[in-house]
Amino acid sequence: MKYVVVIGDGMADYPQEELEGKTPLQKAETPNMDRIARKGACGLLKTVPEGMEAGSDVANLSIMGYDPHEYYTGRGPLEAASMGAELSREEVAFRCNLINTEEGLLSDFNAGHISTAEASEIIEYLNQSFHQYGKFYLGTSYRHLFVSPKKEAADLQSIPPHDVVGEPLSQHLLKPEDDKLARELNQLMDQSHAKLENHPVNQKRSREGQKTANMIWLWGQGLKPQMPSFKEKYGLKGATITGVDLIKGLGVYLGLTNIKVPGATGYYDTDYCGKANYALDALEEHDLVFIHVEAPDEAGHAGDLEEKIRAIERIDKRILGKLWKELPQHHDFAMAILPDHFTPLSVQTHTPEPVPYAMFKSGGLKDEVDSYHEFSVEKGSQGLLEGYLFLKNFLEY
Ligand SMILES: [Zn+2]
Repeated sequence: MKYVVVIGDGMADYPQEELEGKTPLQKAETPNMDRIARKGACGLLKTVPEGMEAGSDVANLSIMGYDPHEYYTGRGPLEAASMGAELSREEVAFRCNLINTEEGLLSDFNAGHISTAEASEIIEYLNQSFHQYGKFYLGTSYRHLFVSPKKEAADLQSIPPHDVVGEPLSQHLLKPEDDKLARELNQLMDQSHAKLENHPVNQKRSREGQKTANMIWLWGQGLKPQMPSFKEKYGLKGATITGVDLIKGLGVYLGLTNIKVPGATGYYDTDYCGKANYALDALEEHDLVFIHVEAPDEAGHAGDLEEKIRAIERIDKRILGKLWKELPQHHDFAMAILPDHFTPLSVQTHTPEPVPYAMFKSGGLKDEVDSYHEFSVEKGSQGLLEGYLFLKNFLEY
């Protein structure tokens, strides 16, 4: 049996006035998602446990079959793993966004989707300017890493920048603000603004009318997590396909192979067909592949209804469609489709309600649900499940 789990990041949403009360998943043309629902079984999944933030890290850790309450230490260390930054037991990895600030407000959490090539010059400059604080690592686009040698940094409170767009930076610094280390790192963020404002990369971006990367934002920090491998826990050889460091990093700690797809960008322009083709290849050597697509989440954060629908339709046609066509020719297979969390257009950030899932298995159970969206699955045979139990359910149902 070969298993594929397709994760449309942030795909779930609320009913839209522009869509006459339908959600993007209801509105989008999704014959392949609907087929999974029609031929298989559906349910709702609580990917974000009570009391935890609705982050992609927590939600995807759940989907991969690990209880976040037991294993989650923060987003930073997951991204560190994907960037090849080995953490000692003392070191604390922060996610380091390149952001844009104007007049003391956080005006853009992604610095106008700065290119990785431009970001690389800035990260190098930050390492030259601020080596006394720790080390910066280059990631992708606006998503980078900062590693502090001070273990106590793990206990500070930090805020995801995409949650406070348009708000004054001074209200969302690392806390408690009277803590010595928090003060030091808040000073680092402040100084980065002074240094980056006139950096050549930013001068050029300004001239071209693009948002500048004129500050760093540190958040999502944590110590290295200790987790049993996927093979130990589930007895299967697994792989991930994603354009996002966070998901790659989860895979590293779980011993999953990260399959590199040249055109996987973590954005609207990602190579959907490439992801499907590489997944099919990977299944020759692996038992299970997680295919993660970031685009619907980005559209949710941007409040862009059209892009969200387009991303959902592309997942359906180019990934699920391809898999449905190819897989049955060679294997008994099982396939699941789900988002990790909601990223509602009206909220423009993640929300923690249970997500809809549909799964199909050759010769497996079939229920009464005949389409896939937020409401159809409520009638599904699988009911409401804790997120980390999904994988077991998918393997055994
Ligand atoms: Zn997500």
